[in-house]
Amino acid sequence: MSPLVPLGDVQATILDAVVRLDAVEVPLGDALGAVLAEGVVAPEPVPPFANTAMDGYALRAADTAGASPDTPVRLRVVDDLAAGRAPDVAVGPGEAIRIMTGAPMPDGADAIAMVERTRRDGDGTGEGVFVEVEVPVGRHVRPAGGDLTAGQSVFEPGTRLRAGHVGVLASVGATTVRVFRRPRVGVLSTGDELVESGPLAMGQIRDSNRPMMLALVREAGLEPIDLGVARDDEDRIVALLEDAFDRCDAVLTSGGVSVGDYDFVKAALDRFGALEWRQVAIKPAKPLAFGVVRGVPVFGLPGNPVSSLVSFELFARPALFQMAGHADRFRPEVLATAAHDFTRRPDGKLHLDRVLVRWHGDGYVAGSTGDQSSNVLSATAPANGLALLPDGDGVAAGEAVRVMLLDSPPDH
Ligand code: AMP
Ligand code: MG
Repeated sequence: MSPLVPLGDVQATILDAVVRLDAVEVPLGDALGAVLAEGVVAPEPVPPFANTAMDGYALRAADTAGASPDTPVRLRVVDDLAAGRAPDVAVGPGEAIRIMTGAPMPDGADAIAMVERTRRDGDGTGEGVFVEVEVPVGRHVRPAGGDLTAGQSVFEPGTRLRAGHVGVLASVGATTVRVFRRPRVGVLSTGDELVESGPLAMGQIRDSNRPMMLALVREAGLEPIDLGVARDDEDRIVALLEDAFDRCDAVLTSGGVSVGDYDFVKAALDRFGALEWRQVAIKPAKPLAFGVVRGVPVFGLPGNPVSSLVSFELFARPALFQMAGHADRFRPEVLATAAHDFTRRPDGKLHLDRVLVRWHGDGYVAGSTGDQSSNVLSATAPANGLALLPDGDGVAAGEAVRVMLLDSPPDH
């Protein structure tokens, strides 16, 4: 029996062996979740011209001196300006232009009176408006370049693009961006007992790992590639892997890596050499195969669905994030209060219990999601965290427990 290797050592070995992918130019519409390979500089100011932040009247601030609801100032309305139109009339002394949010400031005007502080005198343009407030120069005017000036640095390299970033990039006219290529991640299930659909014969179960892994890859913002289900046949698995190494940047397999008589993934991967077989000092997800074959990192994850998921989180996800250029490869960890006793026995392993973490007004509270057996996936699905229970006798109710967050905690 090989010795148990601490979690951190295995993670470090993997991250040392995995390299970032090349930079590519992608359409902005495909950039969500990707990491910028180079910084972006605004080629033009945002907004491109001074414009109004309010519906109202563009006027000369000096004309509103002393204006109040009791002593309004009457201005002559000389034009009506909607957003999208270029002004062709200037505002002279004693004049105003009716203007809508986003429309350019007309020449001569230096302030906006919001419509709520005005009263129409007559209907339509060419009529007058009573302004009931004194407005200073610049009131409700958004200057050109007030958001970003031309030449200003917008985002640094290494920025992970969220929806807001995509919006900003669009605002400076970027139609493509240079990002690190998203890893294409092949997912292969193995086992004679697995079926994809239809009725189950005695001894058969449904393949849950592959759909789950494909979803985990997609959720991480990466590109999943479905490699199907392989029978427990060493030659067949080798053939499938050969094909996968040509098409994928990383490969995840599940099952067949423990010490059973039919663990053909282990045998198949060994034929490619350079694979490391680990017994990690954790529960669940103790067995792990890892190696880089023809430049492609391969993760042989254990077959039990809960173990597969935990193994993905601890080993595959950080490595895939590193390949995708992310600076933050690991999930965040928080300290939570144990909602109940987390009992365990010393066994030389870190236990990772599936928990639901909630925010309770002044701190996080973590409670088990149920049966912690490595085959009971239904009790894992609702979890938004993995409680990290160090080797020992567990954590008592009310004590602090470290939790790796898989999702944001609800605040109730
Ligand atoms: P193995 O690592 O191949 O010995 O599998 C360990 C356990 O996980 C066995 O009970 C398998 O039936 C189960 N298992 C393996 N692969 C899958 C899968 N893709 N979906 C659901 N269960 C699986
Ligand atoms: Mg198997």
